[in-house]
Amino acid sequence: MIKSSGRRAKSLPLASRLLLSHLLVMIVGVSSLVIIGKLSSPRFFVLHLQQLEGSGVTLRYARTFLVKGFERAWNRGTFWAVIVGATAASGLSYWVSQRIVQPLTQIEQITKKFAAGQLDERLPPSEIPEINQLATSFNRMAASLEDVEHRRRELVSDLTHELRTPLTVIRGYLEELATDRIDPTPAVYEQLAKETRRLERLINDLQELSKAEAGYLPIKLQPINLRPLLESLMQKFSDQLLEDGPLLSLECPAQLPPVIADIDRVEQVLVNLLGNALTYTETGSITIRVRVEPEGQHSRVPRLWIAVIDTGIGIAPEDLPHVFERFWRAEKSRNQHTGGTGIGLAISKRLIELQGGQIEVESQLGQGSTFRFYLPLA
Ligand code: ADP
Repeated sequence: MIKSSGRRAKSLPLASRLLLSHLLVMIVGVSSLVIIGKLSSPRFFVLHLQQLEGSGVTLRYARTFLVKGFERAWNRGTFWAVIVGATAASGLSYWVSQRIVQPLTQIEQITKKFAAGQLDERLPPSEIPEINQLATSFNRMAASLEDVEHRRRELVSDLTHELRTPLTVIRGYLEELATDRIDPTPAVYEQLAKETRRLERLINDLQELSKAEAGYLPIKLQPINLRPLLESLMQKFSDQLLEDGPLLSLECPAQLPPVIADIDRVEQVLVNLLGNALTYTETGSITIRVRVEPEGQHSRVPRLWIAVIDTGIGIAPEDLPHVFERFWRAEKSRNQHTGGTGIGLAISKRLIELQGGQIEVESQLGQGSTFRFYLPLA
C-alpha cells in the first residue's frame, strides 16, 4: 500500500511525460543527425575535392585548408541549427502537451464539481476525437444521473404528500377519541382500519414500483401461450361482477401464437387494467381484445396486442398524458373513495417495458377507455 502510494507520488504528470517523450525523440533524432553528419560530411567533401582534381582543377596546396574550413563551417552551422531547432521543437512540444492535457484537467475539475452535487455541469466538446468521445459519454451519464436525482426528489415529495393524508385522518380520529369528543363506535374503528389499509397498500405498491423502476423485479422471459391466462382472468373477474354491472367478454383467436413474456407479470398488468375498468365502469361492457400484428406494419417483429376496452367514465384529454405517472389520479377525492393509490398504471407501464413491450391509452370522457399493450411474439 505504502509502496504503491510512494510510487504514485514519484510518477510524473502527463504533460511532463509527453514533453519528455517529445524531447527524447528529438534528442535521438538530433544526435543521430549530428553524428552521421559529422562522420560522413568531411568524407563526402573530400570525395568531391578528388572529383574536382580529377577534372583538372589544381587543389594540392589548398586542400587541407579547404577541408578544415569546411569542417569549421559545418560545425558552426550544425551548432546553430541544433540550438534553433531544439528550441522550436521544445516550444512546439510544450504547446502540444498542453493542448492534450488541458481538456483532461478540465474533465477532472468538472467531475469533481459533479461529485460535489453540481449536477448541471457538462463537458465542452473537444477537437481530439477520443477526448470528445469521453466528453460525450460523460455528458450522457451526467444527464441520466441528473434525471434519476430529479425523479428521486419528485418521488420523495410526492410520497410525503401521499402519506400525509391518511396519517392526518388517523391522527384526527385518535385525538378525538382520546379527548372523548367522539364515541368509539365500530364505524370510527372501521374508518381507522380503512386508512391504515390505505397506508399499507401505498407502501406495498411503492415497494413494487421502486423495484420495477430500478429494474430489480425478476422477470423470467419465456415463450408462453396467453389464452389460458386470459380465460382464467375472465372467470375470476366475472365472479366479482354484480348482476346489473358491465358485461365482461373476451375476443381472442382460438389459436394464439406464443409471446416472449413473464406470465406472472402479464397477469399483474391485466389484473390492474381489469380492476381499473371494473372500478370506473358502472354499466355497458368490458372487453379484452387480442390481435396479432404481423411484422412490417409498424414494427420489424410480429407482436401481440392485448386491449382492455371499457365503456366507463373515461379520462379527459388533458389528463391522458398523465395516467401512467405515479400517484396520478383523475380526481383525488373520487379516488379517495375508491382507495386507488395512482401507482398501478405506473407499475404496469414499467412491467410491460421490462418485457420489451409498450402500453398506451385512448379514452373519451363519458364514453370509455381503451388501455392496450403489446408483447413481442416468440
Ligand atoms: P389507481 O390505484 O388510482 O387506480 P392507477 O395508476 O391504476 O391507480 O390509475 C391512475 C388513474 O387513472 C386512476 O386513479 C383513474 O383516475 C385513471 N384511470 C385508470 N384506469 C381508468 C379507466 N379504465 N377509466 C377511467 N379512468 C381510469
